[in-house]
Amino acid sequence: MSPYRFANEDTICAISTPPGQGGIGVIRVSGQRSFEIGDRIFHAVHKKKLHKAPTHTLHYGKIVDPRTGEVLDEVLAAVMRSPKSYTCEDVLELSCHGNTPSLMKILSLLVREGAREALPGEFTRRAFLNGRIDLVQAEAVMDFISAESEIARELALKHLNGDFSQVILKIRERMVSLLSNLEGNIDFSQEDIEFLSEPAAVQKVLNLLEEVDGLLNTARDGRIVREGFLVALAGRPNVGKSTLLNTLLGNERAIVTAFPGTTRDTLEESLLVHGVKVRLVDTAGIRSTDDPIEKEGIKRAEETIRSADLVLWLVDATAGMTPEEDKNIEKYCRKNYLILFNKIDLVNDSGLPRTGRFSNKQVLKISSFRKSGIRELEAGISEACLQLTRWTGSEAGAVVIRRRHEQALREAKASLLHSLDSLKGNMSPEFVALDLKGAIDHLGKIVGITTPDDVLNQIFKDFCIGK
Ligand code: GDP
Repeated sequence: MSPYRFANEDTICAISTPPGQGGIGVIRVSGQRSFEIGDRIFHAVHKKKLHKAPTHTLHYGKIVDPRTGEVLDEVLAAVMRSPKSYTCEDVLELSCHGNTPSLMKILSLLVREGAREALPGEFTRRAFLNGRIDLVQAEAVMDFISAESEIARELALKHLNGDFSQVILKIRERMVSLLSNLEGNIDFSQEDIEFLSEPAAVQKVLNLLEEVDGLLNTARDGRIVREGFLVALAGRPNVGKSTLLNTLLGNERAIVTAFPGTTRDTLEESLLVHGVKVRLVDTAGIRSTDDPIEKEGIKRAEETIRSADLVLWLVDATAGMTPEEDKNIEKYCRKNYLILFNKIDLVNDSGLPRTGRFSNKQVLKISSFRKSGIRELEAGISEACLQLTRWTGSEAGAVVIRRRHEQALREAKASLLHSLDSLKGNMSPEFVALDLKGAIDHLGKIVGITTPDDVLNQIFKDFCIGK
């Protein structure tokens, strides 16, 4: 049973700021009894009552335990009346001192006086249920709060603004209009009224498919935003891959992220390079070998390199590039790569390595050990990564960042393909209409028009309390 069954009847409360010490700690109260309950524990210096205060006003006063008369804190109380609040309900926000035990005490006073502790994400869920935001926007609240990189933040904000929802709703509207046309065909099939011809309907479905496919194509970018760009460190053994990994980790802010299945044969670390989230993977050195264990390691390294968004191929500058390395680069690095001549500190000016067939743009000379050329390398990494994402500028809102959205789009696509088959196979319009209805429902699930309760529970379960 959903824990939210009585959601909108209760007045809920929670600490909305992170635990620990801080200048302020905010307690949020939402529901019909917010101000009445607030008045039981809040004594304004001007003596006026919160339930009589106009909306969007701030009141200075004290929190007092009504049973004992003990003063608990000096606070500012913000009054936001329905519907102009985060949840669309009457909301009271108490800006207290940021001390967890003290905030907990005030929270338990609120509960004692009639409020209920909010469930994870319950404020945002109410904002959704009360129609202030749609489901994509609700999810974006969470994405925005947890955004680790600049791109993730930017994209979450676009979703929060409703840009992505607009794109989905527009496609859905076109499906609805096609459906009503087809249903007209069904209802008036005996009469001589010309609705949409079959080729015209086919064309409309094809156009819709193209739009859905366009969105699905952005899912890879979405994956990159969520998980980070996969950057593989590759090259022969002893060229300095591990040293470079440590240097980059030491230079930039490392992110501690738990990836599913963290036991990997390759060492992986997450970090921000110039605000871009990167998963840096150190692979086994690639060389010809007969050792079966090393062979297995190399096989896995090759897989990682092939799936990487960017490969950093290290070459020992003192040895120069061997013909075997040159061949391997050609074999594995078809897409995006940078060649790094490492250990440049050991090479004097006259002995600088030749970069062979590679242009200067593809080659960087660095010393992982002495940390020279690392700034340029970091700039190169972030630039190469950003070039991979196509969604710059105004289209940035239309990127699929959640697997749930991707899944719903795939289902919508399957329904559209089915309707196309039915149209081409001259099936009865009822069948086509049924498939179109399916596609409409799948898109509706994304924005929350047709989202089942268990899916909603799943989504809000991942929120923190107080959001
Ligand atoms: P990997 O096998 O490719 O991971 O190589 P390592 O990072 O383990 O480095 C192999 C050896 O090269 C170690 O002794 C490092 O200290 C040394 N090394 C790595 N990078 C540099 C560098 O830029 N300059 C110098 N002089 N030595 C380096």
